[in-house]
Amino acid sequence: MLVIGGGPAGLGAAISAKENGLSRILVVERDLELGGILNQCVHNGFGLHYFGEELTGPEYAGRMTGRLEGSGIEILCDTMVLSIHPGQDVHRVCLMSACSGYRCLDTETIVLAMGCRERTRGAIGIPGTRAAGILTAGTAQRYVNMEGYMVGKRVIVLGSGDIGLIMARRMTLEGAKVLACVEIMPFSGGLARNIVQCLDDYGIPLLLSHTITEIGGRSRVERVTVQQVDASLQPVEGTERYFDVDTVLLSVGLIPENELTREAGIAMDPRTGGPLVFENKETSIRGIFACGNVLQVHDLVDYVTEESEEAGKAAAAYVLGKATAAFAPPADRIIDVTPGKGIACVIPQKIRLDRLEEKIRFFFRVSEPSKTPKRVMLGDGERVAASFRRPWMAPGEMEHIKVDRSTLQEMQGEILLLTIED
Ligand SMILES: Cc1cc2nc3c(=O)[nH]c(=O)nc-3n(C[C@H](O)[C@H](O)[C@H](O)COP(=O)(O)OP(=O)(O)OC[C@H]3O[C@@H](n4cnc5c(N)ncnc54)[C@H](O)[C@@H]3O)c2cc1C
Repeated sequence: MLVIGGGPAGLGAAISAKENGLSRILVVERDLELGGILNQCVHNGFGLHYFGEELTGPEYAGRMTGRLEGSGIEILCDTMVLSIHPGQDVHRVCLMSACSGYRCLDTETIVLAMGCRERTRGAIGIPGTRAAGILTAGTAQRYVNMEGYMVGKRVIVLGSGDIGLIMARRMTLEGAKVLACVEIMPFSGGLARNIVQCLDDYGIPLLLSHTITEIGGRSRVERVTVQQVDASLQPVEGTERYFDVDTVLLSVGLIPENELTREAGIAMDPRTGGPLVFENKETSIRGIFACGNVLQVHDLVDYVTEESEEAGKAAAAYVLGKATAAFAPPADRIIDVTPGKGIACVIPQKIRLDRLEEKIRFFFRVSEPSKTPKRVMLGDGERVAASFRRPWMAPGEMEHIKVDRSTLQEMQGEILLLTIED
């Protein structure tokens, strides 16, 4: 098995595949060390679900890498996977590294665990000069937390996703003045706990339904214009406010890192930005699995680890089962799972009824916040397979529901709808 990416998803998949009987596993990581994005997240709040303790990102990464010791799992850092060439039984993966150059390896199964990257200013097209001092929040996080460089003194944050919120607090703790966090939507994209702990606790204003419409400054950012937006997200004339800042941090969305996936011809889901997967995290190409942020952007690393363990276990079952012919050809009854009213996306998108374990977990995000209790329904249009009550939900928080295999097997038709009702 070859795992692409040595973040929590890649490590979780490798460890689980080993525990489930696979002997030869290689993890390829382009960075100099394992751990992925966790290495730059020095704040706490990781691991509460999985380890039952509150850890920082590097501590969480340390727990995962510690589990590699003595496992026999091979690691190649400072090595970039350049392409995947799917085959019938064996897939070819081509790599590049400074010490070994270009080479290709053959493998029976691949786990995609490449994580995600941030959207940049170019992606959202903010007008203005190209002065220094405009960074993504993640880049600032890396400079401040790993490289030891402070990135500015007077800061404005665009976007209220978790990374933006956490960096608003981090910059404050490091001595900068954060003037505001500006959010184009009428609601924050971050976890409720982060709004309280990162903005409210430090008196940083959150300007909802606002955006930055101009960045000014010659060599360095000097001033930004912030405007209110209307219901169609267009700036409202006459609402201009000016902030004298030297730094703009952008936290305007994460994009699953799927260039390799697309080039390999794997079917994608435009809603998640990741590959379409079956109940066991297998993609549309047999023997290629996906997990973590490359599959869907997660808010909690604990779920990344759980998901990657499922992918690693399934990849091991695929290789071992293939050898004993126990791994059946594609099932005849495949059900598509489709997001209905109020749901932005759902994983898995397809389930093979004869491959289900006792329970199946559906991860989903809602398209807008609901502050009153709502019912989440899964059904075939006529019958309800499962229904769950949620006191409140927000697009920034990934939700999940668990459904019994027996319930799903009773469903008719080829589409299961996940919807929200009052
Ligand atoms: C900038 C940023 C900041 C974040 N901050 C937080 C936070 O503060 N708190 C929080 O809970 N969550 C945070 N997250 C979410 C976080 O990504 C997840 O919780 C989790 O770490 C995702 O794990 P992963 O293994 O899927 O991805 P990652 O941790 O991103 O790991 C993916 C790994 O794949 C490697 N890789 C990618 N492509 C290749 C290739 N072609 N060849 C070889 N290696 C490759 C990358 O170098 C990386 O190490 C952040 C995400 C980002 C992008």
